[in-house]
Amino acid sequence: MTEGAKQTLHACPICGLQQTVGVVPGGARVHCVRCDHLLFQNMAGEANRRVFSFSLTALLLLIPANLYPILEVTSFGNTRSYTALSGARALWEGNMWPLAIPVGLLSESLPSCWRGK
Ligand SMILES: [Zn+2]
Repeated sequence: MTEGAKQTLHACPICGLQQTVGVVPGGARVHCVRCDHLLFQNMAGEANRRVFSFSLTALLLLIPANLYPILEVTSFGNTRSYTALSGARALWEGNMWPLAIPVGLLSESLPSCWRGK
């Protein structure tokens, strides 16, 4: 190892052996020399691939989310089903297209802004 190269001290959580670890290339793993427990893994480059995978999955799941109803209302024996875009479609068919466009856009994008607890 060249002088000035960054070295960090890692303690193995299994056997307690403290060992210095130098620069770890992307995707490489460092194991404990005594018990072979995984000490450190360089995840560089992994984040972009995960973001792309989750975004693609969310885009694919948007299709069935818009095909299946999110609300069913039964009134006097009649059941009506509503999808996420039913409100926008009803506004559009009622010639209220200036309102239908933001309602449609928000009904698709607003659930993605919800972060949960
Ligand atoms: Zn160990």
